[in-house]
Amino acid sequence: MTKSVEYIIVGDGYAAMFLAHQFIKNNKSFLLFTEGKKSASMVSAGMINPAVLKRFTTFWLAQEQIDSLKNTMTEIKQYTGQNYLIEKPILRVFHDEKEKELWLKKSDDESLKPFLSKDFVKLNSVKNPFDCGVVNQSARLDVSGFFIDMMNFLESQNYLIKEKFEYKLLIPTDSTYKDISFKKIIFAEGMAVKENPFFAEIPVHQNKGHHLEVQLSVPLEEGFTIKKKHFIFPLNNGNYYYGGTYDREQIHHKIDDAAVEKLTNALAEFYPHDFEIKEVKFGFRPTVKDRRPILGNHPEFGNLYVFNGLGARGILNGNYFSINLYHHLENDEEIQPEVDLKRFQ
Ligand SMILES: Cc1cc2nc3c(=O)[nH]c(=O)nc-3n(C[C@H](O)[C@H](O)[C@H](O)COP(=O)(O)OP(=O)(O)OC[C@H]3O[C@@H](n4cnc5c(N)ncnc54)[C@H](O)[C@@H]3O)c2cc1C
Repeated sequence: MTKSVEYIIVGDGYAAMFLAHQFIKNNKSFLLFTEGKKSASMVSAGMINPAVLKRFTTFWLAQEQIDSLKNTMTEIKQYTGQNYLIEKPILRVFHDEKEKELWLKKSDDESLKPFLSKDFVKLNSVKNPFDCGVVNQSARLDVSGFFIDMMNFLESQNYLIKEKFEYKLLIPTDSTYKDISFKKIIFAEGMAVKENPFFAEIPVHQNKGHHLEVQLSVPLEEGFTIKKKHFIFPLNNGNYYYGGTYDREQIHHKIDDAAVEKLTNALAEFYPHDFEIKEVKFGFRPTVKDRRPILGNHPEFGNLYVFNGLGARGILNGNYFSINLYHHLENDEEIQPEVDLKRFQ
């Protein structure tokens, strides 16, 4: 018997989940394919950060993206019953006095004023001789809670298909896949898009990231996220997340010892007590040269869409642009040109 839905989503990371939320919220019928692998999203740190902490800048639509995410999280709470936003700010450890001065100067910029606090903090548990700057409006997502609950909700409502989507069984001209007929299908597979014969050519490039799960001998203060070279913050199980690294060259699906060493050394540099590595995880960020996501329609098949290229900001980009994509799918609203797949054609 044929099952008929309005939409199919392929993937289960941030891109897929935030789009699924738009469908849930608007009572659309859909099916979401998950192959049960650990997505890049599931190994992400969950940082929600309106500032770029290398040279203290911000990015396109940062305030709009933060506001939109808060709104979405309130909406999701209505059906999962949980809040996944951990409202603990990021504290940026200054490397020297010069950096601190730069922060102060930048905090007067119109675009950075809302994000860079002029009040500095001194922590006891890590080395921070030049203090830390507080990133206002930063927070983090309870990543594991978010994915566990979203998947459970999708399953309970019969939206979930726990199978790898087999591209060769898709007949775009009939709008069918196996015994499912659909109106539109959205591919949100992260780096696995390279296996998708319809969108393999989109210009996303992998950027491999490792993180450590560590046990600290002396806990950090008050659940903040602390950032020096990388981010450190407490996990629900009492351990800490430390990461992640960036590597554009590596494509193999194995732990890289050099990345582990880099993280271990960086942590030892500013955490003055013993720690033990409990686990190492890695994932591949789907990045785009112009640092903007990719949303759009297949040039030949009007019922096939892609949502990818979320880069290092999967949460903010995934949420914000899923709304644009939803209104495009439903109401033919224009995809913002800066993120439209057409910019490469
Ligand atoms: C170490 C690290 C730390 C990060 N930290 C942050 C952070 O703090 N904040 C932030 O915002 N972002 C962070 N990111 C970036 C973020 O994780 C990515 O932008 C995001 O994961 C991309 O989401 P996605 O949905 O496009 O792809 P993915 O998360 O990779 O999800 C795609 C999913 O689709 C599934 N899939 C693929 N093909 C098929 C198929 N044929 N059938 C069924 N399923 C399929 C895959 O198994 C995968 O699970 C981090 C990334 C890494 C690696």
